[in-house]
Amino acid sequence: MLANSLIELDRAHLIHPVASWRGHEASGVRVLKSAKGATVTDASGKTLLDGFAGLWCVNAGYGQDSVIEAATRQLRELPYATGYFGLGSEPAIRLASRLADHAPGDLSHVYFTLGGSDAVDTTVRFVSYYWHAKGKPQKDQFISVEQGYHGSSTVGSGLTALPAFHAGFGVPFNWQHKIPSHYAYRNPAGSSAEAIIAASLAALKAKVEDLGGAERVAAFYVEPIQGSGGVLVPPAGWMKAMRDACREMDILFIADEVITGFGRTGPIFACLEEEIVPDMMTAAKGLTSGYVPMGAVFLSDHMYQVMADAAGPAAVGHGFTYSAHPVSAAVGLAVLDLYEDSLFENGRKMGERLQAGLASLKDHPLVGDVRGRGMLAAVELVTDKAAKTPLPAAAKPAVKVFDRAWENGLVIRAFAQGVLGYAPPLCCTADEIDQIVERTRLTLDQTLADPDVR
Ligand code: PMP
Repeated sequence: MLANSLIELDRAHLIHPVASWRGHEASGVRVLKSAKGATVTDASGKTLLDGFAGLWCVNAGYGQDSVIEAATRQLRELPYATGYFGLGSEPAIRLASRLADHAPGDLSHVYFTLGGSDAVDTTVRFVSYYWHAKGKPQKDQFISVEQGYHGSSTVGSGLTALPAFHAGFGVPFNWQHKIPSHYAYRNPAGSSAEAIIAASLAALKAKVEDLGGAERVAAFYVEPIQGSGGVLVPPAGWMKAMRDACREMDILFIADEVITGFGRTGPIFACLEEEIVPDMMTAAKGLTSGYVPMGAVFLSDHMYQVMADAAGPAAVGHGFTYSAHPVSAAVGLAVLDLYEDSLFENGRKMGERLQAGLASLKDHPLVGDVRGRGMLAAVELVTDKAAKTPLPAAAKPAVKVFDRAWENGLVIRAFAQGVLGYAPPLCCTADEIDQIVERTRLTLDQTLADPDVR
């Protein structure tokens, strides 16, 4: 009864992110009620394994007492402190300092935001500010990668390269450009690392030339693993090659670690494994494990010094009411303690198990590709393995495969193109990882029996 009235209220008043509004009116909301560890329970009492950690964010798992206590303590003591007027709070300062210790190279300055989209927007503003400070305002063209996702804000959505975020919105802007993805499974250059890296380097250089040369190009944006584009893992050495090319051309290199940060792929940041130091880096999601909103921009010392000198006594006019929110920062510190105590290590072990488990699905008639790193993975479905034929639109994977998995007690991401995404909490047990794989196989068997999958 309660659930029914909630469904009606939702339909009438709550707009859902990235949803077909008419489709949602028809299907109605599924209300989640509670969660613990790696499981969530819906309003009907059904318990499911959360193979996607909410939205690739609840890295520490649900219901961690130490996090709840840290938030409660901070809410009692100081629920809000602005960073304006030279004010601050202890948790924000301590979190910035601990993150700087973990960050690659000279990324020692942290600007806290509310999430990933405004972190990306902050980097765009900092890039512009930096080039103005260097006396090169004509460096105003931005390049990102097809299939990339950099948020849904006015500016970030144009760096994003997924059609659904552009249709009807008038983005990308004319200063936002793309080069093809490294997407190994469907790369016209073939699947060898050398060929893919060479093709991406050539595409970047050609794009820079098209735009009038490096003196026009401000920055290049990458995700260490493309998440929302379908968990596309670049070949080893791709990031380093692109980073080196940008350095040679004096183009800023921005790594968007909103998904890959905080143990998702193994280390705290994927850039560490790639042994690269970007000029700026973004993070969010696992930063607070999704308990409260927070994102971060890591600004390199070399950029910071140029910007600070240029501003001199004037303010660098960029700020949000909730920048460096003390409750979010307290949660960030508590989550970081958990990661360092055991969760990064557990995540690395479980990540190996997840990758091996999903790889065992390769014998399934519908599985064309299995890819990922650590606790981030994807299974790409095809109807013909040799021809790599995607599922037909009528198969509606985003709805039908998601629903089947749900019925089987598993939450996954089912992308419209027939790619299943996995990002379980780092606290998963071995049995939970095995269940994720088993329930996926059952879901694939049921999908194979669907007459619309031909
Ligand atoms: N960048 C990347 C790589 C992301 O995956 C996301 C979110 N999925 C964002 C930016 C935007 O983050 P948010 O949804 O917190 O605004």
